[in-house]
Amino acid sequence: MKLQLLPVGKLDDGLLAKLAPALAKTFQVPCELLGSSLDPDFAFHGERQQHHSSEILARMQGLVTPATWRLLGVTAADLYIPILTFVFGEAQMGGPCAVVSLHRLRQEFYGLPKDEAILRQRLLKEAVHELGHTVSLTHCADYRCAMAPSHAVEWIDLKERWLCETCQKKASTP
Ligand SMILES: [Zn+2]
Ligand SMILES: [Zn+2]
Repeated sequence: MKLQLLPVGKLDDGLLAKLAPALAKTFQVPCELLGSSLDPDFAFHGERQQHHSSEILARMQGLVTPATWRLLGVTAADLYIPILTFVFGEAQMGGPCAVVSLHRLRQEFYGLPKDEAILRQRLLKEAVHELGHTVSLTHCADYRCAMAPSHAVEWIDLKERWLCETCQKKASTP
């Protein structure tokens, strides 16, 4: 069984290729980049100009195969759930699907110069966080842990890219 990475819409290939080995190490599971992508147009809501992340997760469920340990979608689209203005990502508690958005992880979103290194770090932390939910982890009180909640990008920057010892023990990795 593998952790599979699914591009949701158009993505810069390099991003996922760099994300895969880091996630494989954190979750101690082989990680593969899927060749196909999922077009997220069906989840776009014109009144909000955003994509509904729960609808993307529901569609991803249909792409799960016996080879899937977890399926992580990565998208450039801005995601939301109805009760919030936006989400960095969403996961199915206990698995198997999770999705993360690059949209608000980019420095450019905040009027700052583009920074690929910062983007990659934030993406990794968010990916670990959402995958943490898929292995039934809830939010962690340790602000340095990847499972700490983050409602702003500054909080993501405070976190580490791995799970604290307590979360690691609780995580049901294969
Ligand atoms: Zn969370
Ligand atoms: Zn923790």
